Amino acid sequence: MTVRTGRHFLQIPGPTNVPDQVLRAMSAPTCDHRGPEFAALTTRLLDVIKPVFGTSGPVVIYPSSGTGAWEAALVNTLDPGDRVLCFETGHFSTLWEEMARSLGLRTEIVPGDWRHGADPEELARRLAADTDHSVKAVCVVHNETSTGVTSRIADIRRAIDEAGHPALLLVDTISSLGSIDYRHDEWGVDVTVSCSQKGLMLPPGLGFNAVSAKALAAREQAGLPRSYWDWGPILEANRRGMYPYTPATNLLYGLVEAVEMLNAEGLPEVYARHARHAEATRAAVRGWGLEVLCADEREHSGSLTAVLLPEGHDADKVRRIVLERFDMSLGAGLGKLAGKVFRIGHLGHFNDLTLAGTLAGVQMGLHLAGVPADPAGLPAALEVLSTP
Ligand code: PLP
Repeated sequence: MTVRTGRHFLQIPGPTNVPDQVLRAMSAPTCDHRGPEFAALTTRLLDVIKPVFGTSGPVVIYPSSGTGAWEAALVNTLDPGDRVLCFETGHFSTLWEEMARSLGLRTEIVPGDWRHGADPEELARRLAADTDHSVKAVCVVHNETSTGVTSRIADIRRAIDEAGHPALLLVDTISSLGSIDYRHDEWGVDVTVSCSQKGLMLPPGLGFNAVSAKALAAREQAGLPRSYWDWGPILEANRRGMYPYTPATNLLYGLVEAVEMLNAEGLPEVYARHARHAEATRAAVRGWGLEVLCADEREHSGSLTAVLLPEGHDADKVRRIVLERFDMSLGAGLGKLAGKVFRIGHLGHFNDLTLAGTLAGVQMGLHLAGVPADPAGLPAALEVLSTP
């Protein structure tokens, strides 16, 4: 048996490292979810979580993964056979589109090269052509975790408004919430989908829908079958600090603590920290002489960086060596990027030395895997990190 010393480096783009204070908060005794103490916690939590989404409206919390929260966004707002416009930005946008199709929606895909975000100009063209307003929703993944590309949601909103189109805007913020600037209300998003295990620094197990007034109104007419995911009974029970099912009590204790940590640092500071770490990571990648997958300077992700390897080199071999030698997990290439890229997660509970250690591990792994990489990469990142 291999004896591991020190702490494992979990540098995949989620689940992320859970801070000790969040772990401690979750280890409190499980309580009566119908009792007064828990009702007070729920009432407070449903209030303090709103600024993280940039909303003053309701946030529905499910005991679920992010995939469940995707389904909830669709079944609460749409009718069978409705047209939904989806952008192919990577693996996760593809999975969401497949889910929409399997639920009986008619999806229209805007094809993409997995190196760019959703194109606002193409959206404007498609919506302008939809003169009878048959498109009922536009689905965008804010931060494509498979590619490290962040779509420009404010520009997407502008394109919808300029076309004068009434489609709902549904946005997946699973790997951006709590790491990259996000504004549900200001950007006119109707449903924001998220989950617990990335920027919120919790283990997997909570799914979220932040819901606009327009989305709530759409729910009244929406005919897709729903039961567990139905916002109605949840929002009704939430008024009394309750849930219509047994909530994930201990994850919610952890969520209160995590939100307090984000507030103590300040959300703008949290976003700036992630942007700086992303910049240092890109400096390392370029210093190694390798390519960042994201091809548009405006769309670099603050939460992860996907690194493209030269032809003939296997990204999974690099990850395997890094895991075996340095006890660090890096993200695999997903879907058509399998073996071609590895992903460095730099989101959540993270500081300068965590990043420096991560990039040192990657540099040593590249060397051991025989990938030609200039050792100037790590110093280039340290230069960014040590800039006053
Ligand atoms: N959307 C994005 C952008 C993701 O990164 C993920 C998972 O990593 C999902 C959706 C699916 O979430 P989950 O695995 O929690 O169901």
